[in-house]
Amino acid sequence: MLPLDPQADIGRRAWVRCPHCDDSDGCATCEERRTCSAHWRYLLSNTGSLLHLQCPSCTAIWDHESGFGATRSGWRRVTGGPGRA
Ligand SMILES: [Zn+2]
Ligand SMILES: [Zn+2]
Repeated sequence: MLPLDPQADIGRRAWVRCPHCDDSDGCATCEERRTCSAHWRYLLSNTGSLLHLQCPSCTAIWDHESGFGATRSGWRRVTGGPGRA
């Protein structure tokens, strides 16, 4: 388990499914993509539309391409791609 990132702030949250622990599996609220009070992630930072997230359940850190806003050009170069710490 990783420690929580110092940037983790409960005031900045994102509702994205965790690819590591799937704690939202079978949750009706999450299935409807609503803001579930039990399943959310810390939004550590973002680069354009790429979100840098940490899961409070399993403390995994990963990048999520939200597809919103800015172009994703260059994001792989910056982050090394998803799945690498
Ligand atoms: Zn998780
Ligand atoms: Zn949920």
